[in-house]
Amino acid sequence: MTSSNRIYLDYNASAPLRNEARAAMMSTLDIIGNPSSVHTFGRKARCIIEEARESVATLVGVKPANVFFTSGATEANNWFFRGGWETALVSSIEHDSVLEPIKRSRINIKHILTSSAGVAQVEELSEMLLSRNGCNLPMCASLQMANNETGAIQPVAKLASFCRYYGIAMHSDAAQAAGRVKIKLDELGVDTLSLSSHKIGGPSGVGALVIRDGFDLPALMLGGGQEHRKRSGTENVIGIAGFGAAANSAVRDLKEVSRFRLMRDRIEHNIKSITPEAVIIASDADRLVNTSCISLPGKSAETLLIKLDLKGFAVSSGAACSSGKVNSSHVLSAMGLTSDIIRGAIRISVGWNSSEAEISSLAEVWSKLFS
Ligand code: PMP
Repeated sequence: MTSSNRIYLDYNASAPLRNEARAAMMSTLDIIGNPSSVHTFGRKARCIIEEARESVATLVGVKPANVFFTSGATEANNWFFRGGWETALVSSIEHDSVLEPIKRSRINIKHILTSSAGVAQVEELSEMLLSRNGCNLPMCASLQMANNETGAIQPVAKLASFCRYYGIAMHSDAAQAAGRVKIKLDELGVDTLSLSSHKIGGPSGVGALVIRDGFDLPALMLGGGQEHRKRSGTENVIGIAGFGAAANSAVRDLKEVSRFRLMRDRIEHNIKSITPEAVIIASDADRLVNTSCISLPGKSAETLLIKLDLKGFAVSSGAACSSGKVNSSHVLSAMGLTSDIIRGAIRISVGWNSSEAEISSLAEVWSKLFS
């Protein structure tokens, strides 16, 4: 996406707003009424929410009643850990919105190790799970569908089948996978799934927790009883309308993921030809088609980002934290990468509005800056 000659290649941080989402929100701005009101105004607002719920449900292959709107994937991830668990089994490469709520609770944490390719090693769990046989304390597991920094796709269905066998509740953070990988909740076999609107070209500040039929999770917010009494609070009608429209577009885009793969592969090919010392991180894993995590060992990611930004390119360090500072990445560390590879790692991610021309411009600038 170009905005005053700037090129945006940071879709995993936040995708630009899709035209369909903008239009849906614009047409909702003047809707008067609380969606819980029974008069015509209220019913109109309710209708917008329920249409969006259908669209989001289609994105992950569930019924609309399984979708509970939240303020984003962070809230959805936090919600799952309010389930009264005694122990949580989590990969070490989860997003902080999974790791932090566990760390700050009384839940015991057991880490699933990560391979050097960036994939959670769920096979190694069988012994630990066997030793749990007969234990009745509530246990849960959480494994993201795809990693936000490397794009590595995780063996969620495999872990879910272990979890079902051992009676462990399972959650998956699908914030990065939605719209890039086909998702069917039933096929994955998880109990809950979190989604984020701004990763698929909707507005930020809205997302969902998808809960399978019959899975009992306590309400997150108590009050007026919205979202089937699970998440009280007057709904964000405008945001939800945008999320629904973005979900429709994301479903359509699933048919053209090969376009994203081509762009991603060209980026990597160009960078390797210009700077042969570049390391493509997680290249041995099955990865999201839009994501590339590349390191120039010995360089600092912060310097690379600033140099690229000065030339008009927005990419990110996999480890950018909310303050914008670059921290050491817990994901790349868990993969056992050397510190000079970690220090020099940046993430380039494309999406619905990226073009071949942008990829060519990046190659030209890369060559000027780093060859
Ligand atoms: N999980 C993952 C994997 C993410 O990449 C992000 C966003 N960086 C989140 C959760 C949080 O999503 P949100 O911004 O909607 O709270």
